[in-house]
Amino acid sequence: MKCEIIKDLLPLYMDKLTSQESNREIEVHLQRCRSCREYYQEMKGELPDILPRAQVDETALIRKVSRKGKRMKRLAILVILVLCVLLAGSVVVFRPSKVDSSEVELLYGRVGNTVYAQMNESKNRTIQFTGSVDSIKDDKGNSIGQEMYLKTLTSVYSPQKGGESRWEDTITEDNQIVRWIFEFEDKIVTIENGELISEEEK
Ligand SMILES: [Zn+2]
Repeated sequence: MKCEIIKDLLPLYMDKLTSQESNREIEVHLQRCRSCREYYQEMKGELPDILPRAQVDETALIRKVSRKGKRMKRLAILVILVLCVLLAGSVVVFRPSKVDSSEVELLYGRVGNTVYAQMNESKNRTIQFTGSVDSIKDDKGNSIGQEMYLKTLTSVYSPQKGGESRWEDTITEDNQIVRWIFEFEDKIVTIENGELISEEEK
């Protein structure tokens, strides 16, 4: 039977008004002819065969994409968290802090014309210093010595305990005064020619 005739008969077939013989012809045709089958499905209010499958695939695809998006989001959050932890850790380890005078051992003295000062650290830190050097002058403006101002700072964690810093100088005719001023968190200690001159609370 021709498609046009089938399509004309389909409304009757749907209402079960066609003969058994026509029914058989129509059913055989519908099995073989995709165009009429889709026409019939549309008439019945069904969607053609291909569409639902395409839709299923599409939703699966969307689900896949959004799952991948979530994974990327989780990865980004993880990366940010790790960076925060690293940053906080480095601030704790590397942040410079001042040293309390009780936290270190300060040694000083004079041997012959050599004067010295030594600072021993008892913690796992490396003591660092900021400061300046000035010359000490007499009334006529001649240099008669040197003053070194040292502000104590710890900035680096050290796996080894008890690091030390040492200063030495020689007393001469042109260098009669050797003064080291150490600034701690709690006080300022002045050592001159290997002797303790003053200890000022801050
Ligand atoms: Zn047909």
